[in-house]
Amino acid sequence: MTPTDSLVERALALAPAELFIDGEWRASSSGARFEVHNPATEEVLASIADATPDDGMAALAAASEAQEEWAATPPRVRAELLRAAFDRINELSEEFAALMTLEMGKPLAEGRAEVTYGNEFLRWYSEEAVRINGRYTPSPEGNLRILTLQRPVGPALFITPWNFPLAMATRKAGPALAAGCTVIIKPANLTPLTTLAFAKVCDEVGFPAGVVNVIPASEARPVTGPMIQDRRLKKLSFTGSTPVGMALMKEAASNVVRTSMELGGCAPFIVFEDADLDLAVKAARLTKLRNMGEACNAANSFYVHQDVADEFARRLADEFDALTVGDGMEEGTDIGPIVSADQRASVDEMVQAAVAEGGTVLTGGAKGPGKGYFYRPTVVSNLAPDSKLLTEEIFGPVAPITTFATEEEVLGYANASPYGLAGYVHTGSIERALRMAEKLEVGMLGVNSGTISNAAAPFGGVKHSGIGREGGPEGIEEYLETVYVGFPNPHTGL
Ligand code: NAD
Repeated sequence: MTPTDSLVERALALAPAELFIDGEWRASSSGARFEVHNPATEEVLASIADATPDDGMAALAAASEAQEEWAATPPRVRAELLRAAFDRINELSEEFAALMTLEMGKPLAEGRAEVTYGNEFLRWYSEEAVRINGRYTPSPEGNLRILTLQRPVGPALFITPWNFPLAMATRKAGPALAAGCTVIIKPANLTPLTTLAFAKVCDEVGFPAGVVNVIPASEARPVTGPMIQDRRLKKLSFTGSTPVGMALMKEAASNVVRTSMELGGCAPFIVFEDADLDLAVKAARLTKLRNMGEACNAANSFYVHQDVADEFARRLADEFDALTVGDGMEEGTDIGPIVSADQRASVDEMVQAAVAEGGTVLTGGAKGPGKGYFYRPTVVSNLAPDSKLLTEEIFGPVAPITTFATEEEVLGYANASPYGLAGYVHTGSIERALRMAEKLEVGMLGVNSGTISNAAAPFGGVKHSGIGREGGPEGIEEYLETVYVGFPNPHTGL
């Protein structure tokens, strides 16, 4: 057995193949199972229990039963359980990284980076659990005393995407558990194993039964729909595509369930003529190719000032060309496979449509090599600003480039998007960077940078990119309800 084989075995052993409900590992109530594949080899990795609507309701019942006691558990105890989970995941970081590489495709180095990033939400919120505050103030007229307290919203349902299997679960579970909410996670059906491994860690370190529940399902809507209509559910946090988020908001509206929505993105990457081009090219590579471009905050639309566009495009194409595409478990792989055959077909269709419109492929633009859902890192230039490749979310390793002449012009292009998640600006002028920060319609802006995600920062978007923030002090607010208690002035009375 090679060291890699034993790592594969250890990684797969982290993830039980059953549902986790009320502190127990259970088969599906129908006995059904579904398969999870490795996108690099197209081989089956595991066959896991497939939750039914009854299993969803059992998870909600467990979360609801456990809610009162979990909310009453001292914040320090909740904090220490989160911290214990953080420590345990750290001990297992290589296995967690490999598990994500196996089920999702990202190179092992990026799996390690996700463990660092995703696990940090458990540590950050273990530190926030003991700082949930209220206030006591006089009313402006002096006749009242205003006391506010914060209490957990209640049982929360999380529906997560496949692109960051650990971080998308911990970014929600960290603040929710710290606030005193019980949780049910419905992971993406392409990548449920890491979330099951996370549940196993929560169980091992001593979270009480019912506080954390995980229900993978091959068909989400029949399972989550009835849960969202049940009055015991108090919170829905979704990360995924905008159309599904819109449908879930409608479902949640009919039961007035609080929602947080982390939806699609189409991040502009704007390079001005005064930018440091070395830095801009490096940042472009990082933010475009991290996770094979399958990130909601990935640079999607490259707007490059006409004076530097040719040089930027050529240098970016040279960088992309030098990268090694292959199985993420192999040493030396820079770019892993796309998550599925469908996702790769959608990326390729967008590229071919752009070529038909007259775009120039400077590098890439092709599938391969061999088995697995690989796609070469691609740069397409000479595009019109309204080309679909620039205005729609690509979710693949493709950088489409167009040019602009003035600040007003590029703001017009970027703000025409219905999305508003992240943006990136490269310029040598602080005033220009601040003007862009004030005018670009995004929830997050990277200045002369390609990396913005951090557990201590508020992640989230505006417009069709969603509602709410994850991370930072803002993130826990999504799981807290403010209660106002009014008293008469204690000196003068009513
Ligand atoms: P998706 O919307 O297809 O699926 C996301 C989750 O929703 C999965 O668990 C899926 O099973 C579930 N789902 C699908 N239809 C459902 C329904 N009708 N009812 C209930 N659940 C349903 O998205 P995806 O392909 O997994 O992820 C990619 C998308 O996620 C991209 O658009 C990306 O931008 C977005 N995303 C956003 C963020 C963010 O923080 N804003 C982060 C990561 C990904």
